[in-house]
Parts: sequence; C-alpha cells; structure tokens
Amino acid sequence: MELTEMYGQLGISGPVLQFAKEVEDSLKERFQAIDQVAECNQLKVIKAMQEARVSDIHFAATTGYGYNDLGRDTLEEVYAKAFHGEDALVRPQLISGTHALTVALSGNLRPGDEILSPVGKPYDTLEEVIGIRESVGSLKEFGITYRQVDLLENGEFDYENIRKAINERTKLIEIQRSKGYDTRPTLSVKKIGEVIAFIKNIKPDVICMVDNCYGEFVETIEPTDVGADMIVGSLIKNPGGGLAPIGGYIVGRRDCVERAAYRLTAPGLGKEVGATLGVSQSLYQGLFLAPTVVASALKGAIFAANVYERLGFEVVPNGTESRHDIIQAITFGTPEGVIRFCEGIQAAAPVDSFVTPEPWAMPGYDSDVIMAAGAFVQGSSIELSADAPIKPPYAVYFQGGLTWYHAKLGILMSMQKLLDAGIIRL
Ligand SMILES: *Cc1c(COP(=O)(O)O)cnc(C)c1O
Repeated sequence: MELTEMYGQLGISGPVLQFAKEVEDSLKERFQAIDQVAECNQLKVIKAMQEARVSDIHFAATTGYGYNDLGRDTLEEVYAKAFHGEDALVRPQLISGTHALTVALSGNLRPGDEILSPVGKPYDTLEEVIGIRESVGSLKEFGITYRQVDLLENGEFDYENIRKAINERTKLIEIQRSKGYDTRPTLSVKKIGEVIAFIKNIKPDVICMVDNCYGEFVETIEPTDVGADMIVGSLIKNPGGGLAPIGGYIVGRRDCVERAAYRLTAPGLGKEVGATLGVSQSLYQGLFLAPTVVASALKGAIFAANVYERLGFEVVPNGTESRHDIIQAITFGTPEGVIRFCEGIQAAAPVDSFVTPEPWAMPGYDSDVIMAAGAFVQGSSIELSADAPIKPPYAVYFQGGLTWYHAKLGILMSMQKLLDAGIIRL
C-alpha cells in the first residue's frame, strides 16, 4: 500500500507496477540462486581479507613514490587470495579496464610475438591497442602481430581453426569473457577452462589472459580457477563495488604480474612504487561490497530481460538463460524506443535525475549515441547505466545497479516512459 504510493510519487503508474509485480513474482527462484552465489563470494572476500590481516592502518594515504605502501601491498595480497592467483597488481594508476589490459599485454609481449584471440574480435577499445585499427603506439608498431578465430555460428569454439592458428610465435591468448557490446554469447568460466585446456595441451608455455570485465563475482569461480594465467579488469565495474573511484587490476601468475608491473611503472621499479593518495579504503570497501552489488545488478538484468521479453521485444540474454556477465541488451527496433528507455533510466537516478539524455555524435562511433547514467563515479558502469547507438537494430545495452531496488526503479521508469509514449501497451 505505502510502497504503491511511494512509487506513484516517483511517477510510476498502477499498470506498470502490476505488470512488474507479476514478473518479479515469477523470478523468486532465480533471485534465490543469485543470492547463493553472492553469499559464497562474500565469504571468499572476507576470508581473503582475514588471511591478509587487513587492518585500519592499511587505509592510510601515501604520497610521492609510495615506497612501503602497506595498504597497497596488502590490497594486492587480498586480490590475489580472493581470485586465487599467485600475485596481483591493483592500482589507482591503472586508469581503466583498457589501460589494465594494455599494461598486461605490453608487459608480457615482445617484438615478434603473436596474440591469438580464440573468441573473435576483442572489445572496441582494444582494436587500437593491438593495432587491428591503426593507432600510434599500438602493439603492431612494436612488431607484435595478431590473429583471431571467430566462434562458430552456434557460439562454440572453432577448435580446428584454433589448433591451426597456434604457431611458434603464439605467445599470448586473449580470451574475452563478456560479450561486451557484441552479439556473441558471454562465456561461462567453465567454457573458458575448456578452451584454455585445449590450447595448453597444444602449447603449454603460452600465456592465457582473460579480459574479465563485467564478469567478476557473477559465478562462484573465476577464470584463474580454471587455468588462466592472468585475469584483468576495471575497478569502476564489478570488483570496485561502486565505491572505487578509479583503478584496474591484474591477477595471476607471479611472473606475468611482475612483467606487467615493470611496464606500468618502470623496469626495475615494478610493484615497489605507486602512491595510493588516500583511495585504498574505497578499494577495500568496494571489494567487500562487490559480491552483493553484482547480485543486485544481475537481478536488474534478469528482471529487465523478463519484462521486455513479455512485452514482445528481443532480449539478449533471454529471460531464462544462465548469466555470465551483467550486461543486458534489449532491441526496440526504433529510435524512439531506445531514447524513451534511456530517459527512464536517467530519471530514476540518484544523481542528475533532472537531465534528459540526448543522442549525440560521440567521437569514435559511426552513428549518434545516447547514454544514460546518473552515477556517483563518472563513467562507472557497475552503477545503473544504459547506452545505445542510434542505428538499426536500435538495441539498448544496459548494466549495473548498486542496489536491486534502484535497478528495479530504473526499469519501471523506462516502462513508464515507453507507456506514456504509446510504444508499449499493458
Ligand atoms: C569495459 C570493458 C573493457 C574496458 O573498458 P574501459 O572502459 O576502458 O574500462 C574491456 N573489455 C570489456 C569486455 C569491457 O566490458
């Protein structure tokens, strides 16, 4: 009763609430399963923090070179323990996921080496890093070559062509866990383990690196549990728990992490330097909250998939399939559809709810793009956010939600906007 009234005050009408309630009621079991994964991951993180003997002295800021930054070194121990790697590099100086991946790649590759992606084209920003699209400073400029083997049409690995692509120069395998903004399926950790086993069987000394962005804590195991030599990700996505104001991580084999550290700072300096400037507490606390935050985002994604599937739109992943990342795509088929959806996400935000997102010509894109985000941390995509290129098939990608209730409000608001515009009928 009271809730209905409060939703009403926020602009959500009775028919939207009623429709949403039916969908939510049908998802009880799935939400329960998500909570179980979160519980397991919460314990994993607490155990890692206890074993590393985290204490309030670790929250202190360092400046300058950052020699003997205990907070930084202990946080890296926590990441290594939680993700079951030998070592970790977790730094505010890794300014994004793309940067962390760049450091991991360029630290571990040498002229004449070759990268192989057995899962098709990598994330957009990596195209210039690798040199698939020409860019100043790309790995290609340093004599590092690249090959890819696309997934088969049914989403399976093309084992035969992977075998053929591996040669004496193949040094590093880049496996992207999440589909990102592509249309292929996201890989489960188990499947990642299968392809790693296959590749290591052919060439045991190859480095298997997983782009783990958007995948952390979605399952109870991570790619490091199934043979990955390095996992790499962004702290303004899942593992930062919404609190990390910046940062990236690399976890894995000690020698791989060390080579990456020599690239991030300087040969000879490696992990010994890098002041934390007072952000350590947010990185610890964010990691602590990350399992439940990821669970909230997942509930939002599954709720949205079921709402919009029932309303007749194509959704990827669909309402019932299992989840391996937090991204949800919904195809509206018209510019109006994606614009109204984004307006709803924006209107439900705690920050900047009063602004109206509009499509614009963003650099690097071949069509106008609309983005909705009312975030505490700029660009944070573990916070509820949505974006869509204004071109066919007019699909919106959305992700995040620090709390399930906020994710839910965002989706209700998107439905309300679409209802008001006459695009959906309830
Ligand atoms: C987000 C993301 C990245 C890195 O993006 P940044 O915006 O630089 O953090 C890389 N790969 C995938 C799959 C991603 O989702």
